[in-house]
Amino acid sequence: MIELKVAIKDKYYANSEQAVLAQLDFTVKPGEFVAIIGPSGCGKSTLLNMISGLESCEGQHLSYNQSAYQEGIANNKELHQLGYIFQQPRLMPWLTVRENIELILQPDQFHKIDGLLAQVGLENEGEYFPSQLSGGMQLRVSIARAFAINPQLLLLDEPFNSLDAPTAARLRQLLIDLCAQRGTTVIFVTHDLQEAIYLADRIIFMSDSPSTIVHQSIVDLPRP
Ligand code: ADP
Ligand code: ADP
Repeated sequence: MIELKVAIKDKYYANSEQAVLAQLDFTVKPGEFVAIIGPSGCGKSTLLNMISGLESCEGQHLSYNQSAYQEGIANNKELHQLGYIFQQPRLMPWLTVRENIELILQPDQFHKIDGLLAQVGLENEGEYFPSQLSGGMQLRVSIARAFAINPQLLLLDEPFNSLDAPTAARLRQLLIDLCAQRGTTVIFVTHDLQEAIYLADRIIFMSDSPSTIVHQSIVDLPRP
């Protein structure tokens, strides 16, 4: 299980004089489900992109299980097991559901795909193309794809935003179950407090930019 430490002094984009993130310091414990909540544009996606290595984290201190990783994510074996679920499902439209998952697996792992599709309730949709599926079903595919690599650390960026309420509720429960079964360490970004309370063990509140932590609270409510 992965423990993640994040210590960001400040983060600037090249074309801007104002920092996006400042003095952002927190640790996510192994197997913990943390929600990060903050206003739109405060830098939540930037933070996830830095944690995933999509955005530079030069000069900052990020580490997992005590090993610093800014010197090159490619060399960090455990970070190969990082899952990232975006706001949009980001499926390749010219590939079937099954092929979209095959894309990130070695051929000797393809046998796992049927089981994964069944877990997300898509046992009959493997040969469909994304455009033949509803938004909720496309998101199920992107969840199956993220779990295909058995992620140690899972990042989610407001994945349920564009879904109707009952679909979002079903997928939240699916996410909780998949993560709990595997002990996945999770960082879930949202601007929805109710969603954060429902999902998370702990909520980190971020301010507007330059964004920093203004409050953290442990969620100690039994799930319905
Ligand atoms: P959030 O996810 O909280 O909505 P973002 O991380 O997407 O916030 O954006 C934070 C701020 O940084 C916004 O003002 C946004 O316009 C800016 N920003 C995001 N990505 C870039 C980029 N690649 N280059 C320059 N500015 C960016
Ligand atoms: P969100 O707020 O949902 O995180 P955005 O619509 O702000 O998403 O950003 C979508 C994409 O555009 C991201 O990859 C982000 O890095 C990029 N982006 C956002 N703002 C800027 C900006 N001011 N300059 C350049 N790229 C940006």
